[in-house]
Amino acid sequence: METRWLDGKKVAARIKSELSQEIRALTSGDMVPGLATVLVGDNPASRFYVASKTRACRELGMRSEAVELPAETTTEELLAVVHRLNESDRIDAILVQMPLPAHIDTERTLMAVRPDKDVDGFHPVNTGRLCSGNPGLVPCTPQGIMELLFREGIPLRGAEAVVVGRSNIVGKPMFFLLLQEHATVTVCHSRTRDLPRVCRRADILVAAVGRPALVTRDYIKQGAVVVDVGVNLLRDRDEVVRLFGDGSRKLAAFDKRGSVLVGDVHPQASPGWAAAVTPVPGGVGPLTIALLMKNTVRACRQRRGKAGTVSQSVVGGS
Ligand code: NDP
Repeated sequence: METRWLDGKKVAARIKSELSQEIRALTSGDMVPGLATVLVGDNPASRFYVASKTRACRELGMRSEAVELPAETTTEELLAVVHRLNESDRIDAILVQMPLPAHIDTERTLMAVRPDKDVDGFHPVNTGRLCSGNPGLVPCTPQGIMELLFREGIPLRGAEAVVVGRSNIVGKPMFFLLLQEHATVTVCHSRTRDLPRVCRRADILVAAVGRPALVTRDYIKQGAVVVDVGVNLLRDRDEVVRLFGDGSRKLAAFDKRGSVLVGDVHPQASPGWAAAVTPVPGGVGPLTIALLMKNTVRACRQRRGKAGTVSQSVVGGS
């Protein structure tokens, strides 16, 4: 069986190009959507993610405000920043980069973001809306996956979908979005018995675990669509050889950089077996940023009382 690569980069570029036209129309009417990012501490991965998000914002002609706070910031100080951004008329969307340092109360911080500016969709008001099928801001990664499935014409109605992982940011919202599109959805986690057997039921398998190459061919029904959310950094050369083979391009990249990325799906598991699979990198990651931009525009429209095309996308897409 020939396996199709679901190119997240290409789909993300299309979404951004649609958005840029929409943003141009908004800004000519004097409405510039604004995203504020808040970074606490100097975790290099978080810094990298925040930089990519503000860059995407600027590329699309939106306003961005990057707030950087030292690692020793207290919960109260962080809440004061969030309150200021909640009140700012120039800011439509607020993103507090996770994870926060351990001494900060993450729950209180997420609760403090105004639901209509909660661009990550983590506030309980937005999770409640998602769970009850009402419009709201939806977490970007699962929303990006839905966009990919829609745009690649993957049938969802009546399909068996299995999601591995039950986090609040990927697994659980993925469950609700797939259910809303009339898939029959099973969610698995670390206590699921006989995980390969449950996964083999799936027409659509979403792996959001954070365990390098956990999903082997034994987990995949022939002809399934496999969405690999995992982003795992490999630093052990032997592991790279074991997963990708001696003489592979990944090994050459490892020898140059000292690390490479692998998803939750074993690189040998899908080719020639699955109908379609998302690559890592270049699959789900770029969609997450594109959907963050889309949520920013949506938050701007909703807050400033303009109905528009953005809100017609993922939620209720069928
Ligand atoms: P979490 O660590 O929050 O959740 C992982 C989930 O996987 C948990 O529900 C856990 O189960 C489950 N799990 C762990 N080990 C196993 C196992 N052996 N078998 C079955 N289930 C298991 O991770 P996230 O949801 O935040 O992220 C998952 C992955 O996706 C990570 O690699 C992350 O980097 C990546 N990611 C990628 C994004 C992108 O834009 N590409 C965005 C967000 C995440 P339990 O609940 O029982 O502990």
